[in-house]
Amino acid sequence: MTATTPLVLFNSLTRQLEPFEPVHPGEARVYTCGPTVYNYPHIGNMRAYVFADVLGRALSHKGYALTHVINITDVGHLTDDADEGEDKMERAAAARAQSIWEVSRHYTEAYWADIAALNIRAPAHWSIATDYVPQMIAFAQTIAAAHCYELPSGLYFDVGSVADYGRLARAQTEEGSGRIDEVAGKRHPADFAIWRRTPAGESRQMEWDSPWGRGAPGWHLECSVMSGQLLGFPFDIHTGGIDHREIHHPNEIAQNQAFCCTGGLDLPANSGARMWLHNNFLVERSGKMSKSSGEFLRLQLLIDRGYHPLAYRMMCLQAQYRSELEFSWDGLGAALTRLKRLVMAVGQLRDRAGDGADRPGPRFADALARFDAAIGDDLNTPVALTVLDEIVAMKKVDPGEKLAAIRVVDAVLGLGLLTLGRVELRLRPKAAVMDDSAIAAVLEQRRAARADKDFARSDALRDELARAGVEVMDGDPLEWDWTPA
Ligand code: AMP
Ligand code: ZN
Repeated sequence: MTATTPLVLFNSLTRQLEPFEPVHPGEARVYTCGPTVYNYPHIGNMRAYVFADVLGRALSHKGYALTHVINITDVGHLTDDADEGEDKMERAAAARAQSIWEVSRHYTEAYWADIAALNIRAPAHWSIATDYVPQMIAFAQTIAAAHCYELPSGLYFDVGSVADYGRLARAQTEEGSGRIDEVAGKRHPADFAIWRRTPAGESRQMEWDSPWGRGAPGWHLECSVMSGQLLGFPFDIHTGGIDHREIHHPNEIAQNQAFCCTGGLDLPANSGARMWLHNNFLVERSGKMSKSSGEFLRLQLLIDRGYHPLAYRMMCLQAQYRSELEFSWDGLGAALTRLKRLVMAVGQLRDRAGDGADRPGPRFADALARFDAAIGDDLNTPVALTVLDEIVAMKKVDPGEKLAAIRVVDAVLGLGLLTLGRVELRLRPKAAVMDDSAIAAVLEQRRAARADKDFARSDALRDELARAGVEVMDGDPLEWDWTPA
């Protein structure tokens, strides 16, 4: 597919929409801040990766050769994004009486399972922070003399040593944002540790020798080092959730400026990346997103309730990434219904057209141009989805060509429309105490009762299913027999 329109993206650094112009012609190099693997990701976290995936797919669609890196933070992220608190990994390991390595392996695998379930393409590199500690020490050595100072607790970055500190956050640089606690001896409240020395007499599960004593790297240092190593400064796009715009990314930028010996941020490339993109939050009013709230909103919880994970991807795509998105079970149900409609329509097309044509054909040129423009308009997926609906609804067109058009669209949206079957969308709620074949058998009896107009029996069978955790949807235009209870 030859893309016709430019890809315009909102650069948080300039607070402007800007056309994507690659640093290396024909290439796109993207770094995404990954999870801290001390717990399961919640679905809000996963919104950040759905967004990064759509961005990567859009870049591929526009013809760029994509190199995407997502890191895994298995050391260094404290319970506060500034420099206070405990290391999240050390704390989780202590609470579970497990080694940090076990904790990190378990949650990394859980995260990768969510990535796969959401049809998020694997990046070129998953960079694991603990694999890069020697490089982090080397990076810190390069900038230490001109930009850092030592305190008893470690090596600190002097934010006054670079131009335009905090521009990304639009934070006050003189007094700090007021949220950053003091560490005795810091020159400026926003100064941050790039190496945290292990206090005398203590030991950490994860610690390394360094010129500043035994200890562990700071979280911000990791991302500067891994992005620079794997993508080269300056690279094209750095992404993360909007919370990272306030502390983590301004600190990465300051380190990158120090490392590259470059000037101020009027030239965005001096920040280490040309563009900084941030997704807004998924919010949930009752607080179930918080990982400290017992049962929190993990993807697996959605699956256990009978929602296919791609319904959540659909829910994400129904909002533009820079808008806040409110989670609700009704909203998720509506997204599932929309996905089912598409999957059923595409299934019928596949029955008629097999694999479809190689190309969409001229009848689809207008719709595909509008799809391309929607994606080019700062990844406007809600509009892109309406164009997909239009394509699916087009009449008197060659089914094979229509399928080819849908293939072009789904390569960006990643809903799996060409491979999902309607039966796969029908997940059994975990609470259902009947197996699938028993449910199917009762539904068949109920169909027969209704055909005989024996509504008392039909209702009794419906109640039997409800007691077993399966809610029957009567009059479902999609002819789906049962729905998540
Ligand atoms: P963490 O594992 O806490 O570093 O977070 C992983 C990613 O999720 C980061 O890019 C965060 O900015 C992002 N994030 C955290 N909470 C939410 C949320 N509620 N909605 C969207 N993104 C989020
Ligand atoms: Zn990061």
